[in-house]
Amino acid sequence: MALLLKNAHVVDPAVELDGCVDVLVEGDKIAAVGENLTCDAAEVIDLTGRYLVPGLVDMHVHLREPGFEAKGDIESETAAAAHGGFTGVCSMPNTKPVTDNGVVVEYIKSVAAAKGHCRVYPSGAMTKGLKGEIISEMGDMVEHGCVAFTDDGHGVQGAGMLRRAMDYGQMFGKVFMSHCQDEDLVGDGQINEGAVSTRLGLLGWPAEGEELQIMRDIMIAELTGAKLHIQHISTAKGLDMVRAAKAKGLPVTCEATPHHLFLTEDAIDGTYNTCFKVNPPLRTAADAEALIAGVIDGTVDAIATDHAPHSDWEKSREFELAPFGMTGLETALGLVITNLVKT
Ligand SMILES: [Zn+2]
Repeated sequence: MALLLKNAHVVDPAVELDGCVDVLVEGDKIAAVGENLTCDAAEVIDLTGRYLVPGLVDMHVHLREPGFEAKGDIESETAAAAHGGFTGVCSMPNTKPVTDNGVVVEYIKSVAAAKGHCRVYPSGAMTKGLKGEIISEMGDMVEHGCVAFTDDGHGVQGAGMLRRAMDYGQMFGKVFMSHCQDEDLVGDGQINEGAVSTRLGLLGWPAEGEELQIMRDIMIAELTGAKLHIQHISTAKGLDMVRAAKAKGLPVTCEATPHHLFLTEDAIDGTYNTCFKVNPPLRTAADAEALIAGVIDGTVDAIATDHAPHSDWEKSREFELAPFGMTGLETALGLVITNLVKT
């Protein structure tokens, strides 16, 4: 079965292709790329005005299975991924039970193989139960296909704990991904601390609550030699820390989400729309501008969604009671094309 895709705007950075060409697919292989291709036996689809890109990968996604299937599951969220142009996603370990051992990694892989609509690369917890107390079964998880370690949803609160996890875990050659949040400083913060939080009477989540851990994690990565990736970076100062670490030659990378790039705290108004309640919170316009500059100069290594579905009833609660998180898999590519490519 052959498929001839005509007149698409084809983008493939790997071969520096960015223009209007035809693509011929035979079976599961790309057979030809070029202008004015013909193939009598092929089904022809005219893609004039559309983009054709290699399958996208989202390195930060919450699939909610096992344990939180009322919010979403591997089948539903990988369907959202495929709909949004993603052919691979890295799942976060804050499942129930927590993905902190090989059995849960194996479970995710088996469900993804049976029902998934795209590839699933599971990450595993850095600490058992995401509690920040005991190192997780890292070797066991890697044996079963875990691609990275993270306590996403929590920062590892103890610097000594992070050091031990990195010292031990780096033998497996995987990257440590940090959700940076000093829980003592952030407390019950709901949105970015500043004029908007004051006006709306919501407890503030200060930028320093994220930046302190970014700096700490970079220093501990330097101490241990571990590879560090900062997740969903949201502040200009935090990004500068990553920029400085890279300039020093440290193996430090970071990601930014579409919502931190294209929305600011000013989106939150007197309607208290809980869709805008995310962790870390939407920051200032200056922060968003700095993140976009970081994408352009390469300091931001990846755009990742932090796709985090919740049930309607949970997001319908009062702002303080609603959980953090918004979805992103189906809107990320469109937002990036509209706000970054077209501008
Ligand atoms: Zn996170």
